[in-house]
Amino acid sequence: MKRKSFLKLLGFTPFALSMDSLTDLNKLSDSFANTERMPVLFLGHGNPMNAIEENQFVEGFRQIAKTLPKPNAILCISAHWYTRGTKVTAMEMPRTIHDFGGFPQALFEVQYPAKGHPALAKETKQLLDPVLVELDEKWGLDHGAWSVIKHLYPKADVPVIQLSIDYTKPASFHYTLAKQLSILRNKGILIIGSGNIIHNLRMVDFANFNKVDHGFDWAIEARETINALLLDGNYQPLIDYDKQSKAIQLAVPTPDHYLPLIYTLGLQQNGENMLLFNDHLLAGSLSMTSLKIV
Ligand code: ZN
Repeated sequence: MKRKSFLKLLGFTPFALSMDSLTDLNKLSDSFANTERMPVLFLGHGNPMNAIEENQFVEGFRQIAKTLPKPNAILCISAHWYTRGTKVTAMEMPRTIHDFGGFPQALFEVQYPAKGHPALAKETKQLLDPVLVELDEKWGLDHGAWSVIKHLYPKADVPVIQLSIDYTKPASFHYTLAKQLSILRNKGILIIGSGNIIHNLRMVDFANFNKVDHGFDWAIEARETINALLLDGNYQPLIDYDKQSKAIQLAVPTPDHYLPLIYTLGLQQNGENMLLFNDHLLAGSLSMTSLKIV
């Protein structure tokens, strides 16, 4: 891929119900039956071409899907819906958005015809109160969502809604906001953050664009540091990412692809485990590291 083109992209455990959770449950309509607690995913989506190429990362998505109970619906927080204020898609049939330029026609021809879920959008809005959430009829599914969900559910037989990321708010806001969504996990909703933990497009080594496990020194350091914090459950330094080492500043030069991870972390409950997969550096300055919380 050309540099110019690329730069155009810019185990079930019983849960204890607290009083707060019970209140939240009562807020939810009867259309959402209780289920086992669903896992939570963060998916490193990388290059949009992953939507139509065969590679180890795509295979990683397929393999992780085999470990998941079939969800009633998906709520996706994508790096590519970055808005002033928080929005949730509320249409019956979200369009497939090809939000990139300079890619082969085959990528523009991909359609991912999953239904939306207006009732879930309304419930999500209520759960996030008092944060004001706009019910959106214009967006759809951007490639941060469809390019990866396509590999989890190729038949597009699970409804999908997206929640936008309010770019005016700090990571701590997003971490706290995610917690308000926790109860959806007990309603069969699979919550997916889609971004990339290490994502420095300006420093991509285009001569070695598809070279797996190719990372600059700072990327190697950032991956090791961040993975250790993730696996220790030590999330405060990850929320305060902008106060960390030079390596982490280079890994997260802008928050858009990183904040979906913060949502995922906010959804982890006490006693849950984290499994890393697709945990590889790529092209010098990117990582595909993905995780499952269960
Ligand atoms: Zn992206």
